[in-house]
Amino acid sequence: MKVTCTNGQLTVPDIVTIPFIEGDGIGPEITGAAQKVINAAVTKAYNGKHSIEWKEVLAGGKAFEQTGSWLPDETLAAFQEYLVGIKGPLTTPIGEGIRSLNVALRQTLDLFVCLRPVRWFKGVPSPVIHPEKVNMFIFRENTEDIYAGIEYMTGDANCEKFKKFLIEEMGVTKVRFPETSSFGVKPVSKEGSERLVRAAIQFAVDRKLPSVTLVHKGNIMKFTEGAFKNWGYKLAEAEFGDKVFTMAEYQQIKKSEGKEAADAVYKHAVKEVKIIVKDVICDAFLQESLLHPEEHSVIATMNLNGDYVSDQLAACVGGIGIAPGANINYNSGHAIFEATHGTAPDIAGTGKANPSSLLLSGVMMLDYLGWNEASVLIENAIEKLMAERKMTADLYSQTENATLLSTNEYADALISLL
Ligand code: NAD
Repeated sequence: MKVTCTNGQLTVPDIVTIPFIEGDGIGPEITGAAQKVINAAVTKAYNGKHSIEWKEVLAGGKAFEQTGSWLPDETLAAFQEYLVGIKGPLTTPIGEGIRSLNVALRQTLDLFVCLRPVRWFKGVPSPVIHPEKVNMFIFRENTEDIYAGIEYMTGDANCEKFKKFLIEEMGVTKVRFPETSSFGVKPVSKEGSERLVRAAIQFAVDRKLPSVTLVHKGNIMKFTEGAFKNWGYKLAEAEFGDKVFTMAEYQQIKKSEGKEAADAVYKHAVKEVKIIVKDVICDAFLQESLLHPEEHSVIATMNLNGDYVSDQLAACVGGIGIAPGANINYNSGHAIFEATHGTAPDIAGTGKANPSSLLLSGVMMLDYLGWNEASVLIENAIEKLMAERKMTADLYSQTENATLLSTNEYADALISLL
């Protein structure tokens, strides 16, 4: 049975078919482990009323071996049709004309939000002193920016053409070494920025979260990153005016009525539990999120910044083995949940892989389906297991007095705690 979506509202059948990509490298191990825990949690929460029918679809190395295609059309068609799916990590084919299978999936289904929640589980080793203060939801724009892949290599005919256009028709004089320069184009649109910021603010509204931070590098890239910030602030005021107070409004009041008046309005907004929409320049944010993570709740940012920011924050709470992610189009309902790490070929087949990244992506999927009773069970079980310091090899090696579990034993231990 399929999930359907009308006007952005999902309808989820009791027995839901979920297409999944097993993934390459450690993919089969972590997928098996994650599915086993998810099935057990759904059974425990709903006693047979809800269940998942897993439907395997092919991508990556397994697809190439069986079909000669890295990303068969049937796989894309299945995600189109069933709306909600999940995937393990995929090998990036080298020299096959595909930059990345993940990027291809995101762009084909127009999955414009990459959502990465970052939270700490007690007991998980962390390089920061107060990992418990890190509790953020990163909304990374997923379809634009330099990831659009508009790049020209120096020496290629198109690069020459592009350079000629820039210099002769646009009057550009600032290319420092024109003879050897490659070029990349960074498209950032009003629609693309607005739909991302809208999703981030709506998420903060739904979850009653205190703030949304627009992270950008608008001081340098004024018409792309700077425009993202301005469009974001305008959208916040136009569409969520009664629910937010923006720092753009603060600056306006400060300019016209002085700092004291602006501070008073800000204080009042906080008292009224309005969501504070603010902005931070990306390099400052990388520092700020280490020093004062508790000041930031939902992060809305462009593609490249989001990539950097999410890896840094994931490192604060235990690394990529435990950081989940989702790619979502909130308008069509399409969503693919995924492990954020790669295929870890160095440990594939050894039972050392940590299935938490994929499992927590499954937790996000259950939340997305509205099956929160099951997702809470899994999150609580991970919390208990981490507190007991029972861990897979990646975390075990960094933790004193820990017990080592294989991927499968880890899944079984979680099931026993549901
Ligand atoms: P990687 O994430 O696979 O591995 C980096 C390090 O982290 C390795 O030491 C690995 O053992 C460890 N690691 C990763 N996931 C782990 C887990 N769940 N448990 C324990 N340890 C884990 O990155 P890489 O080696 O740069 O990439 C390998 C392949 O994966 C490449 O083909 C790359 O293109 C691809 N990749 C895919 C995705 C994706 O599908 N989303 C993301 C990143 C990389």
